[in-house]
Amino acid sequence: MKTCGNCKFWEPIRNGNGECRRRSPTSQPPDRHDSESAPADLAGHWPQTTQGKWCGEHSWNGEDNP
Ligand code: SF4
Repeated sequence: MKTCGNCKFWEPIRNGNGECRRRSPTSQPPDRHDSESAPADLAGHWPQTTQGKWCGEHSWNGEDNP
């Protein structure tokens, strides 16, 4: 079964959570409706997923789920 946990793009962090490294990190634009209390996050981040999730770009890392 394909999951983030056996995808070559997944980087484990802790407790079954990890980062998807399929693409480069992205920053988040400010919320247009609340720009004063929610400043732009200019630092790039990878999307976080849990081990059991998956997406259509899954690429098997050659291992079973840990
Ligand atoms: S299955 Fe998709 S979301 Fe999960 S690590 Fe792989 S590419 Fe990223």
